[in-house]
Amino acid sequence: MKSFELYEPKTVKEAVDTLSKFGNKARPLAGGSDLVSGVMKDWVEGKGMPLPDALVDLDTIPGLKGIKVDAQGATIGAMTTLSDIIESKELTERFPLLTQSAHSVASQLIRNFATLGGNINQRPRCWFFRGKDFDCYKKGGDFCFSVSGDNRYHAIIGGELCYIVHPSDTAGALLALNAQAKVVGPGGERMVAFDDYFVGPRENILNENVLKPEEIMTEVFIPAPAAGTKQVWEKLKDRQVYDFAIVSVAAAFTVQNDTWTDGRVVLGGVAPVPYRATGIENQLKGKNIKTAIRQAAATIRTASRPMSMNSYKVDVAQNMVERTILGALA
Ligand SMILES: Cc1cc2nc3c(=O)[nH]c(=O)nc-3n(C[C@H](O)[C@H](O)[C@H](O)COP(=O)(O)OP(=O)(O)OC[C@H]3O[C@@H](n4cnc5c(N)ncnc54)[C@H](O)[C@@H]3O)c2cc1C
Ligand code: SF4
Repeated sequence: MKSFELYEPKTVKEAVDTLSKFGNKARPLAGGSDLVSGVMKDWVEGKGMPLPDALVDLDTIPGLKGIKVDAQGATIGAMTTLSDIIESKELTERFPLLTQSAHSVASQLIRNFATLGGNINQRPRCWFFRGKDFDCYKKGGDFCFSVSGDNRYHAIIGGELCYIVHPSDTAGALLALNAQAKVVGPGGERMVAFDDYFVGPRENILNENVLKPEEIMTEVFIPAPAAGTKQVWEKLKDRQVYDFAIVSVAAAFTVQNDTWTDGRVVLGGVAPVPYRATGIENQLKGKNIKTAIRQAAATIRTASRPMSMNSYKVDVAQNMVERTILGALA
């Protein structure tokens, strides 16, 4: 692994100042399960993605960990571990979609030190991206190897130039829950809705979100859902032990006598960003879910442009949406 300088700031401002000094040659460090034991260990680098000279450890900053749940919603520090989220009784009661998605991440060992901020901001898992001999677009190169290579796990929606799927399970759940991230940088802090947080390859091929190199996510806010909101999470994996999603479905919606009143449906494993299936939401609005769901789920076919080896994902996504939403009514 390449050597690096380790900074241990005591405040968010100190962290931001240090990141600003190094530009794109420094990275914030959370649990390190992706950054250190993935990206840096495996020398995942390129012209547009230099390996960091400096890591800025967020663990030394007090106040970035913790969970607060009140009438307004839940505020979760970015450095809160996934295990702490899963073990929170209040989150399990009020936001089961988040706790279930966190529970489906990796293994118990990893969840014990992997953080919410790290899970949301982790880099993609495309095997060409992770292979150091493949200088692809996402690393600043001039080719996408998935187009002619093995693309069975790649995107079926929204792939342009690059066909990654967003790897984070909690990101999909948070988007379905209409959450926001607090981002702090040299210019101060701002709240960014998860609707606007993730960016596809056409917008920025070198990154998957709006964070600038000198910015950090400090917390996540989830607004209290309307009374009676149904929250459901489903994830299909290739292996029954820990694995990333082939397709995941996160949905949060309100119902009156089986009629969909409002809600969000988000798919993971299908697009470079957690994919909000507004086509499905619009088809369901004001309709009896039991009679409308089949046709609504089929709209995924219109949005999909599968690659040579992944058209199976279109069927999986359609069926999972139908099964997951009907399951929530039962
Ligand atoms: C074997 C294995 C299986 C896995 N399976 C799954 C899975 O099924 N589902 C899933 O969702 N994930 C999965 N993961 C990924 C894992 O969840 C992530 O590695 C982990 O969540 C990252 O958290 P971390 O705190 O260790 O982040 P780090 O590795 O420290 O950081 C990850 C990235 O996020 C950036 N970052 C971290 N915190 C912040 C912050 N607060 N602000 C700005 N940037 C930040 C870092 O700079 C880095 O680029 C798996 C990983 C492994 C190794
Ligand atoms: S899908 Fe994206 S990350 Fe994978 S090889 Fe193509 S450009 Fe690189």
